[in-house]
Amino acid sequence: MMNKEIEEIRRDIGAISKSIKEKNILVTGGAGFLGSWLCEVLVEQGANVICLDNLVSGLKANISHLMGKGNFKFIQHDITQPILFDEPIDVVMHLASRASPFEFEKYPIQILKANTLGIWVALGIAKKHKARFLYTSTSEIYGAATEIPTSEEYRGNVNPVGPRSCYDEAKRCGESYVIAYELQHGLDTRIARIFNTYGPRMRVEGVYGRVIPRFIEQALSNKPITIFGDGTQTRSFCYVTDQVEGLLKLAFSENAKGEVVNIGSDKEITIFELAKLIQELTNSSSEIVFEELPKDDPPRRRPDITKAKTLLDWKPKIELEEGLLRMVKWFKEKGKRRVR
Ligand code: UDP
Repeated sequence: MMNKEIEEIRRDIGAISKSIKEKNILVTGGAGFLGSWLCEVLVEQGANVICLDNLVSGLKANISHLMGKGNFKFIQHDITQPILFDEPIDVVMHLASRASPFEFEKYPIQILKANTLGIWVALGIAKKHKARFLYTSTSEIYGAATEIPTSEEYRGNVNPVGPRSCYDEAKRCGESYVIAYELQHGLDTRIARIFNTYGPRMRVEGVYGRVIPRFIEQALSNKPITIFGDGTQTRSFCYVTDQVEGLLKLAFSENAKGEVVNIGSDKEITIFELAKLIQELTNSSSEIVFEELPKDDPPRRRPDITKAKTLLDWKPKIELEEGLLRMVKWFKEKGKRRVR
């Protein structure tokens, strides 16, 4: 299934395909959920990919099928520590960071470091090699947004001392680093503000799961589906292939230099509706239970994606139901592999 999806992305990136071939590309966090998808498309496009990951949240299994390829190199390394490359590098993509709310409590210092010290090292590499720089920022920089849909102009409503601050403020600082390197050193930079994204290779195990893998796992094992709060909070979920297409278009379009772009779905759904939908699609007999809402959980999230549509000729194509069915299928296959 995933091979077909990689082919779909390659088809949909269209005109920028040519600018990827034979480029030397460094992907930090390349063994993570999005990083591994990006690495795979880049490798198939004929780029030379160096994948850096410290494997504390990325998984070697996500990239094991790329290991034997002549144009793929994996280095286990923590990007907060300096690293030198002798080979040329044309593009640096900085994805390295834990991104799950459960990790905000457990690893706040590492999250801060990945987006401050880590981005400083990554930008230093880009500066030395005169490489282009893509930073994967987040909708979290908007905090509990008071403007919905939220456009790139919105400046944010973030609690600097709340439980999510390690991620929100680190990513805001990361963006600031990017702008500083652009201003001071004339780097070619692009910032993607990624909204909720889901799909195969998202971590599922226990507490680290985001809402969609958690609900699917709960539904498939007929365990209670745990809604936090009353479920009226909303998110807008983007399927991974759409997200990866958007990131590649932002990274490789000639007209996107210096741009900050929201990438995500603009179809908003409540968490209660999401739970019901997953229950239905999996024919689950799970009951729905309500647990305490985490502090500072944003009440609504939906991007304004006008800029991505006009600048990058990009829009999400996979409807939520279709994406969820694909993910359920992946879960079932993964389950079978684990049993064997
Ligand atoms: N959520 C939930 N039950 C869960 C996990 C998450 O109701 O088991 C809610 C969470 O409170 C939030 C939304 O689902 O409102 C999305 O959570 P996620 O962890 O995926 O990421 P977020 O969008 O909050 O960064």
